[in-house]
Amino acid sequence: MDAHHGGETANGSPPNDGVSRRKDLYMRITCLGASRCVTGSCFLLENDRKYLIDCGLFQGGRHMEAMNHHEWGFDPREISALFLTHAHVDHCGRIPKLVKNGFRGRIYTTLPTAELCRILLFDSAHIQEMEAEWQTRKNRREGKPDVSPLYTVDDVKACLPLFEVVSTDEILSIQPEFRVCFRHAGHILGSSILEVWCDEAQGPSKAVFSGDLGHKGQLIVRDPYAVTDADILFVESTYGNRVHKSIEESRRELFEAIHYSYKHKEKVIVPAFAVERTQEILFVLSQAFREGLIPSMPVYLDSPLAIAATDIFRRTTEYYNDSTLALIADGLDPFDFPQLTFTRSSEESIAINRNSGPAIVIAGNGMCTAGRIKHHLKHNLWRPGSSLVIVGFQGEGSLGRRIIEGAKLLTILGERVVVRAKVFTIGGFSAHADQTDLLEWLAHFTNQLMQVHVIHGERSASEDFALLVRQRFGFPTDVPAIGDIISLAAPGRARVERPEAAEPEWNQRLARIIDKAAEIRSLWESNRGLFPAQIPSELERDLLRAEERLDALLKRAPSA
Ligand SMILES: [Zn+2]
Repeated sequence: MDAHHGGETANGSPPNDGVSRRKDLYMRITCLGASRCVTGSCFLLENDRKYLIDCGLFQGGRHMEAMNHHEWGFDPREISALFLTHAHVDHCGRIPKLVKNGFRGRIYTTLPTAELCRILLFDSAHIQEMEAEWQTRKNRREGKPDVSPLYTVDDVKACLPLFEVVSTDEILSIQPEFRVCFRHAGHILGSSILEVWCDEAQGPSKAVFSGDLGHKGQLIVRDPYAVTDADILFVESTYGNRVHKSIEESRRELFEAIHYSYKHKEKVIVPAFAVERTQEILFVLSQAFREGLIPSMPVYLDSPLAIAATDIFRRTTEYYNDSTLALIADGLDPFDFPQLTFTRSSEESIAINRNSGPAIVIAGNGMCTAGRIKHHLKHNLWRPGSSLVIVGFQGEGSLGRRIIEGAKLLTILGERVVVRAKVFTIGGFSAHADQTDLLEWLAHFTNQLMQVHVIHGERSASEDFALLVRQRFGFPTDVPAIGDIISLAAPGRARVERPEAAEPEWNQRLARIIDKAAEIRSLWESNRGLFPAQIPSELERDLLRAEERLDALLKRAPSA
């Protein structure tokens, strides 16, 4: 399917002839997520219609997750279209809720994003349903009301007909005075930077949304497109204050883990992030086996979600970079090799640990919070000579985070497991640009008056990066908060409005304390078996009391 080209508008209403354009017509952008935080990406763009850029899930801790249940700040029925930068759930994960609440516009995005979004949203709905069920059971025991999921599998099905696949680098006329172009972002397959043009009463103006940016020289996807002009730029800053190791160095570390466990005839366990990271690991392993850099041994991809994502990667080769296309032209499959087995059923998954001897097991999920990875950790973490390879960010309170922070005894699936495996933390497979990459991408912009809004980062990362951008390029720079409205009253003259209702500082501080409390809770739960019998009940009671007090305080705080 292709997008509309001129003529018709996104929601099928007649095109604006331009003559009736209002004099005060100008772009207004409201930050509704991923502002002073990393998740929940959502931006409302208004001219005389309303559009959304991304509609992602808030993740990481109870305070963030509660925000998924907040009011939208707009009427979903009034949104003409949604432009989706990529398939990660912190960018697309609230779409089913949006549709459930009345959105009927088109969802414009690239082919790989639409396909990946389908499997990730179904997965997200399953998680929402399971968590609501678990919470309901818990609530009933405490005499509290039932909980309904944010959305269900049926809500995801209702979204699918709204997707409209667009070609990268093609300018789409959504309205005569409103055009959008998707450019390669180099983050995950199909990920895009958005260029948005709006012809206003005072002349044309342009906004650019970086989406999540990748870096040059990634294994599978193309380099990020170099945009050269904008009046307003929204740039991500996930790693705005950090520099990654190189892919080359990370590859060496991965091989070191493999050699180590092979020597001890044990397994290498890799918690898998289903999209991109898993395919990159397969890519690296296939090359290493071909070149004899690692000894031959079985490799299991033990995650139905990662297997489905890999199938999508195989079908959308037009989004690969030149070197990967050259591999295919040579008759090689970057995601397959004789040693590789896809374990789809749980029986096949269970069988992996019945076989002794060296093997590489890539299993979901990436932060070890759920899924088949927990079984592999239970069976292997205690075995000297086995290794655990962490290739992605581990959220606060996750099992993966506790392991990299050096926990020596864990409770996994109800059993105590001592950590004797060697733990390798490898940062270079990140699909995000680091500080150096972000600055290099920004250096292409030539408009000295460009207003830069640094988003999609923890507050300190965004603020550090904003300062650096101001010093290096002299652009007017800002770190907007959720609720801030940015308007372009005249080209080059951006204005930021901070509505009174914006979240007070203490609410954010409280949220951080609550997340720390959740961390204490999970630390406690993984160590409770170590304490004498009378201590657990006392500590349990005190913890519960503290949690309830914090919850009550949070309810008094106005929501963002
Ligand atoms: Zn992303």
